[in-house]
Amino acid sequence: MRKPLIVANWKMNPLTFKKAEELFKGINKEFKKAEVVICPPFIYLLSSKTKFSLGAQNCSCEKEGAFSGEISPYQLKNIGCKYVILGHSERRKYFNETNEIIGRKIKKGLEAGLKPILCIGEALKEKNHIADVLKKQIKQSLKGVSQKDAEKISIAYEPVWAIGSGSSCPIEQAKSTALLIRKILSELYNARKIRILYGGSVNSKNASLYIEKAGMDGLLIGGASLNPKEFLKIIKNISKLYSL
Ligand code: PEP
Repeated sequence: MRKPLIVANWKMNPLTFKKAEELFKGINKEFKKAEVVICPPFIYLLSSKTKFSLGAQNCSCEKEGAFSGEISPYQLKNIGCKYVILGHSERRKYFNETNEIIGRKIKKGLEAGLKPILCIGEALKEKNHIADVLKKQIKQSLKGVSQKDAEKISIAYEPVWAIGSGSSCPIEQAKSTALLIRKILSELYNARKIRILYGGSVNSKNASLYIEKAGMDGLLIGGASLNPKEFLKIIKNISKLYSL
């Protein structure tokens, strides 16, 4: 069985370098049963020697040049980043990122040697047509991505209403959505190698259920990843599943 992918999205936290170092230190362990990726704000990517993988929360769809304020996926790769989260619902909402823009970022990230984590998910008002929403997000964002490249991508299913709300997606619903995503992917690819993650109010109580019962290949964790004790507990609970 492939190791689960546990991704921490620190978002725009913490505010100081000192606090970021404390967080890094709090979780800097050897994880044998899971691949752990920490995605801090860009400025902290250089801060520590880490035992886990590092990822960014966004990147430019351009390689280099006159794009003020942007960060190239090549720059991220050159400082040791392995992953990049793309299409997070907060980027779609506050920065008007469309599937077309996200698709361009995915392709440029792959070209630079990064592994994209594509976030998809329905808003509360779209709950009755999840299939159409997810199909559109997946097909438009992955347009032109080859089979070989698709295998480097993980899809993070994050229902928008579950992010930061304390209302995580019911396990049965996550299970059926994971199957739906697998079906959409298999219309495009031999999808077995593409990981599907769950994100949205994950904590140490519900984390392992998404892996064990809903068939997810990993998790994307926001709030709980800022608390080292809670984050380590999540990893410990999931690792137990892989020790059986
Ligand atoms: C996220 O922002 O990707 C996320 C899943 O956040 P939270 O775990 O806080 O719901």
